[in-house]
Amino acid sequence: MTLKPATEPAENATNQATSTVYGPVRSWRVGNSLGVDLLFTTSICSFQCVYCQLGKILDHTAERKVYVSTEKVMEDLRASAWQEADIITLSGNGEPTLALNLPEVIRELKAATGKPVMVLTNATTLWDPQVRAELAEADQVFCKLDASNDATLQRVNRPVAGVTIRSIVEGIKALRAEYPGYLAVQMMFMPMNRSDLAEMAEILNEIRPDEVQLNTPRRPVPREWFMESRGNHEGVPYPAVQLKTVDRDEALDIEAQIRELTGLKVVSIYRKDETKA
Ligand code: SF4
Repeated sequence: MTLKPATEPAENATNQATSTVYGPVRSWRVGNSLGVDLLFTTSICSFQCVYCQLGKILDHTAERKVYVSTEKVMEDLRASAWQEADIITLSGNGEPTLALNLPEVIRELKAATGKPVMVLTNATTLWDPQVRAELAEADQVFCKLDASNDATLQRVNRPVAGVTIRSIVEGIKALRAEYPGYLAVQMMFMPMNRSDLAEMAEILNEIRPDEVQLNTPRRPVPREWFMESRGNHEGVPYPAVQLKTVDRDEALDIEAQIRELTGLKVVSIYRKDETKA
């Protein structure tokens, strides 16, 4: 049975995108990525990260439901330039695992395109065995982890009530144990969480992902929700703030330390600049 959305997309004069599918946009990690937005109606997430490119999270929630129908996603896909994509990425206007039709969409996208599908998640729902089973449909899962303790989690990611660093880490570990695909952990470093590095390396040693991806918030953060930020946008039509980042030397130092402390494969946004990948 096809799941139906509980609500219709909100009217918003400044966010007039009509498609749940966008791009392809160039991603430094995966090449040409076609974005699919299962939230779409507004910005919906169980986090409210200080660096979030969507600007404001208007629905700060951990509720799972159907936000946009699978039929609409597939219709939007057919109208897109999906043939130009290397991979299809489920991310969009918030946390994709909050969408109850996630597994149905993954299956239909793969059947229609033959392309690999990747899910970008903040890992707050991975404590739930049902979500982990649904993610098994994806070829790659990238999990966000920006903190090693609850104080940093509250400062950087500002989760909904009940989410703790242990619930996140145990969820990622459980996914690691069950998931047959490629699992990466993404870390956003900034002065705010720089001192967590050694403890984050310990957590990485608990998880043992296939890859660690290091980033720093280089794009300005809009003060309002901006739907088109779900793509790879440089400019935003709102006042925006630039957060403090780690500079190249610090990023290379973080990369070297994580590699030394974990022995894991580590990739960095700063290396991408060097290779022009
Ligand atoms: S998890 Fe992603 S969508 Fe959610 S607030 Fe953080 S950056 Fe924004």
